Amino acid sequence: MRRAMAAAAMVLVSLVLLPLPAAVEEGTLEVGFGERNITPKVDPKGKPVYLAGFGNNRKATGILDPLFVRAFVVRDGKSKVAIVSADLVGLFLDTVERVREKLPGFTYVVVSSTHSHDGPDTMGIWGPSPLVNGIDKEYLASVEQKIVEAVKEADAGKQPVKATIGSVKAPELLHDSRLPIVLHDDLVVLSFKEAKSDKNAGLVVQWNNHPEILGGSNKLISSDYVGYTVQYLKEKYSCPVVYLTGTVGGLMTSLHVPIKSAKGEELKDGTAEKTARYGELLGMRAVEAIDAAKPVKLTPIETRSSGVYVPLTNRNFLLAHQLGVLKRDAFEWNADPKKIVPLKGIIDLKKPVAMKTEVGYVKFGELEIACIPGEIYPELVLDKVVEKAEPGVDFPDAPREPAIYNQLKGPHRMIIGLANDEIGYIIPKRQWDEKPPFAYGKEKGQYGEVNSLGPDTAPIICQAFADLLSGKK
Ligand SMILES: [Zn+2]
Repeated sequence: MRRAMAAAAMVLVSLVLLPLPAAVEEGTLEVGFGERNITPKVDPKGKPVYLAGFGNNRKATGILDPLFVRAFVVRDGKSKVAIVSADLVGLFLDTVERVREKLPGFTYVVVSSTHSHDGPDTMGIWGPSPLVNGIDKEYLASVEQKIVEAVKEADAGKQPVKATIGSVKAPELLHDSRLPIVLHDDLVVLSFKEAKSDKNAGLVVQWNNHPEILGGSNKLISSDYVGYTVQYLKEKYSCPVVYLTGTVGGLMTSLHVPIKSAKGEELKDGTAEKTARYGELLGMRAVEAIDAAKPVKLTPIETRSSGVYVPLTNRNFLLAHQLGVLKRDAFEWNADPKKIVPLKGIIDLKKPVAMKTEVGYVKFGELEIACIPGEIYPELVLDKVVEKAEPGVDFPDAPREPAIYNQLKGPHRMIIGLANDEIGYIIPKRQWDEKPPFAYGKEKGQYGEVNSLGPDTAPIICQAFADLLSGKK
C-alpha cells in the first residue's frame, strides 16, 4: 500500500516536473525531417548486390555515393502525414503496407522511390538472370525498418514553421527519348523556416527525371544525380532536404542531356563527373525556385487514397510472376472490382490476372499532391495526350484519359511518382504501340510497353484518380 502510494506520489511528481507538451492549435503548421542511410554492404566475397535498372546480372563492385531514405512529416494539429523518398528503383505496395503498420497515428503515409538505376534490386526483376529474383530479402527488410526510423525521427523533430513555394521550368535538364516530345519540366521547391527564428528548417524538391546518368555499364552503388542535388542544397541552406521524383515516363531521362563542367567541358553519360554536375545544376535551378518562392498556406490537411486493380497482360511480367521473380499478390481480373478474387499459388495464364495498387491524394492547404503508383507519362499529367492518334498505334480510337493535373484545381501542385508502389510505365492508351506497323514510321516499337502492366493501365489509373478527387471513391 505504501509502495503504491509512493509510486502514485512519484507519478504526480513526474507529472508536475515533466514539461508539458506544447499545445498546438489546430491549423498550426508543424514540419519535421528525418533520414537514414540505406547503402547496402558490397563485399566481393559476400552475397552479390544486383543493381536495378538496365539489364540482368549487374553486380555491384563498390560504392560511389551513399543511398538514403528521407522523410518529412507535416501536421496541422489534427492530421499528420509522412512522405518518404528512398534512393531506390522502386518499392512495391506490400512493403509500404508493412511500413504503415509500424507507424500508427498517421493519417496517411506515402512511401516513394527516386527510381535510381544504381541501387540494389528491390523489385526482383534484375537478378542474375531473368529467371531468378534479384532481391536480397534481408536488405529489403532493413530498408523497411530504416523508413520507419526516418519517419519517427521526422515526427519527433517537428516544429512550427512558415512555408513558401516556388517553381522554375528546367527543360534544359530533361531529355525525352520517346515520341511525341512532351516534357514535364516544372521543378517545384517547398521551403520551411522555423516560425520563431526564421532559420531554415528544411526543403522539399520535386523534379521529373530518371536518375540514370551512370548508365547500364556502371557497377557502383549510387543515388545517381539525386544525392548531389540534395548535398548541394544541404550545404547552401544548412537544413535537411527531401527529393521527390514525379513524372518519369514517356520517357524523361537524364541520359543524353548535354551537360558541361564548370570549366565548360562537355561531360559524358556514364561518368561520375556528369552525374555530380547534373545534380549540382539541378540544385542551382532549385535555388532560383527558392528565391522566387511565395508564402503558401499548408493547412488544413486532407488525404484520400484508393486501392485500384489493373489487369496484367505483359507476357514477360506474367512469366516472371510464375517463376517467383516478380513477387506480388495476384488477383483474377474482373472489370467489376467487387468480383475480383485473389489467385493462390502459381497463376494460371488461362485466367485474366490483375495486380492491386493504390492512387493517393494529399492536400496541404493550397498545395495539392497527386500520388501515382508508377512511371506516368507527362502527356497524362499535363493533358497532352495526342489529339489525333499517330498512324500505326494499336488503339487509335482509345479515349484520352482524364489528365492528373486537370483534377488539381488549387493554386499549387506537385506529383509524386512511384508513390506507394512501382507498377512500371503508365502509357496513354492511344499511344500504345506494341504491334507492327509502328507509329512515326519506325521499324521497331518505341521503348516503354515492355515495362508496363498493359494498355489499360493508364485509363484505369487516371480514372481512379479522377474518381478519387470527385469523391466517387
Ligand atoms: Zn523507369
